[in-house]
Amino acid sequence: MRDKTSILLVYTGGTIGMKQDPVSFDLRPFDFSQILDEVPELKKFGYRIDTYSFDPVIDSSDVDIEFWKRLTHLIEEHYDNYDGFVILHGTDTMSFSASALSFMLGDITKPVIFTGSQLPIGMLRTDGKENLISSIEIAASKDEAGHPMVPEVCIYFESQLYRGNRTTKYTAENFRAFRSANYPVLAEAGIHIKFNTSFIRYPEDWNQPLKPVYRLDPSVLIIKVFPGMRQQMLEALVNTPGIRAIILETYGSGNAPSGKWFTDCIREAVEKGLIVLNITQCQAGRVDMDTYSTGKSLKNIGVIGGSDCTTEAAVAKLFFLLGQYPDNKDVTYFLKKNIKGELTEM
Ligand code: ASP
Repeated sequence: MRDKTSILLVYTGGTIGMKQDPVSFDLRPFDFSQILDEVPELKKFGYRIDTYSFDPVIDSSDVDIEFWKRLTHLIEEHYDNYDGFVILHGTDTMSFSASALSFMLGDITKPVIFTGSQLPIGMLRTDGKENLISSIEIAASKDEAGHPMVPEVCIYFESQLYRGNRTTKYTAENFRAFRSANYPVLAEAGIHIKFNTSFIRYPEDWNQPLKPVYRLDPSVLIIKVFPGMRQQMLEALVNTPGIRAIILETYGSGNAPSGKWFTDCIREAVEKGLIVLNITQCQAGRVDMDTYSTGKSLKNIGVIGGSDCTTEAAVAKLFFLLGQYPDNKDVTYFLKKNIKGELTEM
């Protein structure tokens, strides 16, 4: 029986664990043990905080599905031994990783909190310390019944806790790097940490074991429409060998050029068995292919509406669904469903 609250702190890389090379001034990763030296305040929690560092650590631009599998495996291996998990990760692809883990880990009963920073933890004005300390506090928080407050895969950044698969990295400059435009924050850290319990997902059974999924199929291409896009370009992209699905990043509420060449090209793609998912380029709002005729024509040729899902979550969900289901009918069915809180069902 464990008496102390226990947290596994995993360092994968990113700015939070960097320091400046005194000669070249480049940012380079440093030994993870120094992270705890940099934040001695963590000892005051009285929790058992164990650390694990990826070796080598990576800039999150190098994240791939093998990395997600390693991370999932690490959590699976240690799932029963900790009350919560805090993952230090570069901000650039954090929303993709948090989305991927929300699908791969399945129904979780413990918090998995991703965080990082815009300034390295060793710098005076770093945002990394607060992000790290509050993430650990959130990962350790329990309700009166002794259940974790947030049994979800989340991102904590600059006093806000978000559902991971609802986030997008929104600024490369400011401390509040992430936004969850289509879903409320799950918690806000002020003097107290206020949990928005009506928006948090809870498991049906708190005792269910972890059943992670490792089979992913990354045969997915993103095509972003833009004024001036030419037929040859679209045809070349749609005919990329080895893809099973296309995320079509459209304008506004799901609109795309109405020209026959465009519609014909997408229709042919659907007819030859590709899944085409319509996701808006807008930061907020949702795809509604019933509003404008340009959207309607996409719907009529079999394009699937992605509702208010982010591109990051759509990528991760497609990898997950394509890995699970060889039949496109199943993939299409689940794309419209809210599986892990990633979209609002229409
Ligand atoms: N390039 C870094 C990364 O994503 C940026 C960061 O950590 O914020 O790994």
